[in-house]
Amino acid sequence: MENIKELERKYIINTYGRSPEETPLFVKGKGSYLWDEKGNAYLDLVSGLAVNILGHCPPVLVEALEEQSKKLFHCSNLYYTAPQVELARLLVENSAADKVFFCNSGAEANEAAIKLARKYSKLFVDEKRFEIITALKSFHGRTMATITATGQPKFHQGFEPMVPGFKYAPFNDLQAFASLVGEHTCGILVEPVQGEGGIHVGTEEFIQGLRKLCDENKLVLIFDEVQCGLGRTGKFLAAEHYGVHPDITTLAKGLGGGVPIGAMMAVEEAARAFSPGDHASTFGGNPLACAAAKAVVTTILEKNILAFVNLNSKNFIKELKKIQSNYSSIIKEVRGIGLMVAVELQNEVNGREIMSECMKKGLVVNCIAGNILRFLPPLNVTASDLKFALDVLEGVLRKTEVTL
Ligand SMILES: *Cc1c(COP(=O)(O)O)cnc(C)c1O
Repeated sequence: MENIKELERKYIINTYGRSPEETPLFVKGKGSYLWDEKGNAYLDLVSGLAVNILGHCPPVLVEALEEQSKKLFHCSNLYYTAPQVELARLLVENSAADKVFFCNSGAEANEAAIKLARKYSKLFVDEKRFEIITALKSFHGRTMATITATGQPKFHQGFEPMVPGFKYAPFNDLQAFASLVGEHTCGILVEPVQGEGGIHVGTEEFIQGLRKLCDENKLVLIFDEVQCGLGRTGKFLAAEHYGVHPDITTLAKGLGGGVPIGAMMAVEEAARAFSPGDHASTFGGNPLACAAAKAVVTTILEKNILAFVNLNSKNFIKELKKIQSNYSSIIKEVRGIGLMVAVELQNEVNGREIMSECMKKGLVVNCIAGNILRFLPPLNVTASDLKFALDVLEGVLRKTEVTL
């Protein structure tokens, strides 16, 4: 185990900036906890970036994988397989969508959504249409089309030229979105709650306004729920908070609970624009991944997890705000919804240092944009685990205050 970190430097392309001194090497996970190679336990409030939605190695998922792996892993989309259809039915029955396309990641789900929006608009609305308006501070993936869709210039640098047909407006600014609609516009793509951009919750006026704007201009409304979907915000889909039905929704991250799978779901009106040959995925919707996702989705829907998320969220955010009032020189803002929570630090505070101190005390949190701590606990995290996290954070802030 010792030289894994050295070998990483030798064999892995350096895209993640892991540091041998500060980044742990994890060997095991159970529930909300991770263990490093030395046997130290850590409370994990990153959950593999909203992926381990039921915690690490949940028995329902282990059992589903075990059972399916004895029957059939994969046989390609040339043939019918039951888990794919059963998972699609589950998603359709619990959303505004009528049909589903399966892929393997969030970026791929968004690629499928962008293609469907373009094809639908060209076929049924106006063949001049191709442009999609997205939000600043958004995140939609790392393929060429989805980094272009991502409204953050830092993701574009060095990869130009970008894919044609994307425009950007500030999140929660309905007027700005409306002013960009033109004869080439085919759709609007937003995260109802922005994740990587710093946990920004869409306002009711904005999200409902986008639906109206799309209806008035025959635009395809796409919600990227790759991070905020599947119970993360306390509802099965974040769209439910707004009472808005998008034309297309994308899912991934938590869907397989750690097994890679993505989904692009659409209402029939949009879905009918795809014909055989228009889109495909070799791995997408394979029986193993779909059996995993079926177990995850069934558990979220049947086990009262959403009520649990809402209760823990209320308390966690309330306690974080208390900490904020005691450490206002360090914390600028606490915001979030459900178990998608951010603590934005004052500009001069180094968030990575705080993250690193928390890690030394056995708490895994994430730091984005240099000074935003992001919490994405498993949805079944316990109240006492969250209390532990609050205590660790407060201890670290106390030390930080002294050195400021
Ligand atoms: C993570 C994320 C993506 C990209 O998902 P990948 O599986 O990494 O391709 C897309 N959209 C949102 C909102 C995300 O949080």
